Formats: sequence, C-alpha cells, structure tokens
Amino acid sequence: MENVLIIGTGCAGWTAAIYTGRANLKPVVVTGSMPGGLLTTTSIVENFPGFPEGIDGTDLMMNLQKQAERFGAEIRYGTVDQVDFTQRPFKVWIDGDLIESQSVIIATGSGHRHLGIESEKQLDKKGVTYCAVCDGALPMFRNQPLVVVGGGDSACEEAMYLTRFATTVYLVHRRDSLRASKIMAERTLANPKIKPVWDSAVEEILGVDQNKVTGVKLKNLKTDLLTTIDCAGVFVAIGHVPNTEPFKGAIDLEESGYIKLFGGGKTSVEGVFAAGDVADSVYRQAITAAGSGCAAALDCERFLAALE
Ligand code: NAP
Repeated sequence: MENVLIIGTGCAGWTAAIYTGRANLKPVVVTGSMPGGLLTTTSIVENFPGFPEGIDGTDLMMNLQKQAERFGAEIRYGTVDQVDFTQRPFKVWIDGDLIESQSVIIATGSGHRHLGIESEKQLDKKGVTYCAVCDGALPMFRNQPLVVVGGGDSACEEAMYLTRFATTVYLVHRRDSLRASKIMAERTLANPKIKPVWDSAVEEILGVDQNKVTGVKLKNLKTDLLTTIDCAGVFVAIGHVPNTEPFKGAIDLEESGYIKLFGGGKTSVEGVFAAGDVADSVYRQAITAAGSGCAAALDCERFLAALE
C-alpha cells in the first residue's frame, strides 16, 4: 500500500511530489495521458518566476520531474479510470490495475473546451486542432490561411505562433474585444498577419465531404449575417474544462465541474486532496498550480502524521 498517490503530472502534481518526496513519503505519481500536462503544449512560459528569459514549457516540466525523482517520487505511466474513496485505504484503478493508498492528491488539470458542433468532431485531426505548438508546423497548415477561435491568452498565443507558418491568421472571437491580458492582446492585434474577426461564432467547419478543413462558416452575432472564410486549419482555443471524469460521485464537485475545496487542498473526503487547474476556475496559472500543489502536499503530510 502507498502513502501518497498523486494523480497528474502538471505543475501541481510535480510540486506535490517534490514536497511529499522531501517529507520521505515516497509518493507514487500517475502520469495521465499527457505527461507534463498542458504546459508541454505551450512554447515559451514567460511568467513563471525565476526565469528572466522565460522557459520552454516542456523543459520546465522535465525539470520539475527530475526534482521530484531526486526526492524519491516513483512514476506510474497510465490513466486513472476508476476510484473508490468510500474507505481507506483508497482504491484507484490505473488502466485496470488497482493501487491502494492512504492518501490521494488529485492534480489532473484541465483539457481543451470544444466548440460542440458536429463538423468539429468530424474534422478532428483533419484540420481541426486544439494545439498550435503541437500541430502548427504540419505541412497541411504551411503557407495557408488559418483560423483561431477564441479571445483569451491561449487564442492570442496560438495566433501569434501560427503566424510563422500561415499566410494569414483569422482570429475569430464572439465579442468585439479580447479577454486576453493587455500585453498579449496588444502584441496580437499589432501583428500584421493576424486579422481579427469580431462578434462572430463558428456555425460550421467546412470540408467534411473532402475529409479535410477547407473553410469556416461564420455568423455575425450582431447582424446574423453569414460569411465564409477559406482556411486549411481551425485552431480552437476557447478555454478549458476540468479533468474530473473518474472522480464524479466520489468527491464533491462545483456546479462548473471543478473540484470543490474546503480550505487549502482539502476535498469533501478526508485524506483526498486536490491541486491545480482541476480545482481552480479562477487563476489557472502555472505558478498558482505549483503553489496549490505545495499546499495540498503539506495538508496531506499533516493528515498522514495525524493517522500515525
Ligand atoms: P479563457 O481566458 O477562459 O478564454 C477563453 C476564450 O474563449 C474567451 O475569449 C471566451 O469568450 C471564448 N469562448 C469560451 N467559450 C466559447 C465558445 N463556446 N465559443 C466561442 N468562444 C468561446 O481561456 P484561455 O485563453 O485558455 O486562458 C485560460 C487561463 O490561462 C487564463 O487565466 C489565461 O490568462 C492563462 N493563460 C496564460 C497564458 C500566458 O500568460 N502566456 C497563455 C495561455 C493561457 P469570452 O471572452 O466572450 O468569454
């Protein structure tokens, strides 16, 4: 039986592993389907304190992993498919294999929100994508017009990144101003390759008959006017949804789907803690995820000490 099982390997999970590792608790860390989490899909992280020139997202996560392993964290590759938190030891199934643990820290982060239209599903990976850094350089997107959907920091970052490859990047947003931070919004709108398309929603992604994206049909939300833009790719960057699927029914969730916290990293089940984006609908930054990973680890250490 394990002392601490940490689920997730983003900033929150690795930080929790560093702290519980240094406390000699020999944490076991489950990677999930995307080791390193969403930060590995970003390019340069400019706002993580301590890196004046910024740091590559994947490098940052590799550093955190090495640091956690140095203090005895053990890695399990796999994805949690089921949990039983009704009594201790808690039961967690990873790709069908059972692990029992005295405590659990959930740090499963969040995934990309989808537009929710049929053509998006049909053209997924055929020109519809959720990650410019992962897919932007593919030959199908080079020297082509591309569409980014969204108005937050992610959409701006995706649009800026894609200007390396695209002829034009159309930034389609449902309002007439960006939600992104001022610095990102200004940089984005100043880029001559990026053309904002305001007050517009994607009605349909075109090209299902050709098995590849050929354009988007947009609706102007103020005038109801329908227009079409030709493009070879649609990069959806409209926010995130927490990865809580295996925990539904096992712990309390907010109405929005995020894990409900009861002070620090405590969840509704004593001995189960949560940290990072899976329990944070407000800040969702790498550094706040790391900070909450630390808090959950300290709460967890105190819980285990009290058991003894
Ligand atoms: P976000 O800030 O929640 O923005 C999501 C955007 O998508 C909003 O503009 C929203 O429109 C739009 N949207 C949401 N649902 C939609 C739908 N169904 N159809 C069309 N548009 C939709 O998400 P994010 O950009 O992923 O950022 C998440 C967090 O990470 C933020 O705190 C952000 O600051 C941070 N982040 C930081 C960096 C950086 O600092 N380099 C990079 C990426 C992300 P409305 O504006 O109308 O709500």
